[in-house]
Amino acid sequence: MTKNSTSSQAGTGSSAALPDDFGREFITLTHQTLSGAAEALGDLDRRAGDGDFGTNVRVAMKGAAKNIDDDSPSTYRQWVTAMYMGWLGVGGTSGPLFGMFFRDVSKAGADDSAPTLEQFAQALADGQATVQKYGEAKVGDKTMIDALDPAVTALREAGSSDPVQALAAAEEAAIGGARDTAESTAKRGRASYVGDAAKGVIDPGAAAMALVIGAARAAAAGEKDVDTSWIS
Ligand code: ADP
Ligand code: MG
Repeated sequence: MTKNSTSSQAGTGSSAALPDDFGREFITLTHQTLSGAAEALGDLDRRAGDGDFGTNVRVAMKGAAKNIDDDSPSTYRQWVTAMYMGWLGVGGTSGPLFGMFFRDVSKAGADDSAPTLEQFAQALADGQATVQKYGEAKVGDKTMIDALDPAVTALREAGSSDPVQALAAAEEAAIGGARDTAESTAKRGRASYVGDAAKGVIDPGAAAMALVIGAARAAAAGEKDVDTSWIS
């Protein structure tokens, strides 16, 4: 409702600023959370796919950690670049798709400063469009899109409100979308080969995407961990 009256002028616009260290915290939390959940995510892929997702997540996070060590990122763009390069070095369907997603996310805002909430939200939407362009998944196909799409919608609806509140709404929507994948049948990736056998199992890529959105929320809030207890 206040959407149209809000500009980037001083005052209301400044409420949409993300912390200066958002890039470092977002990527550190993404790394920590996905590494910690790799076993559980791999287990989901064993039940609903071909079982390689846990390994793919571990390899991607190892690659990201090496890039961080080698390149000592300092800006938001450099931090997210270390993450997208990590994913692009991985096989499976998820490696290239998460790689292209994070590459779009890395482009949020200016080269040398943290993005605003609006810029970050737009970059997530761009990432969604890229994943859907190359992966051809629609909402409901039991993929990472089922977590990302509701998160992007929640951010659009939040407009330029408080970033922590907006990202908390996005995290909640992403977790809801991921959990709902337990009821759907996969139409993409190798999980589509097992069809209805995956009924009742959350899609691992959707769960991982919800954790990434959770990492963004925690980074904006200055918190040091992300809830993974809902994954099982
Ligand atoms: P694979 O399906 O090749 O075994 P991974 O196990 O690495 O790939 O990753 C599986 C995850 O990738 C799935 O849980 C799903 O969320 C995501 N995924 C698979 N195919 C697609 C696609 N076409 N579009 C979007 N996401 C996809
Ligand atoms: Mg797999």
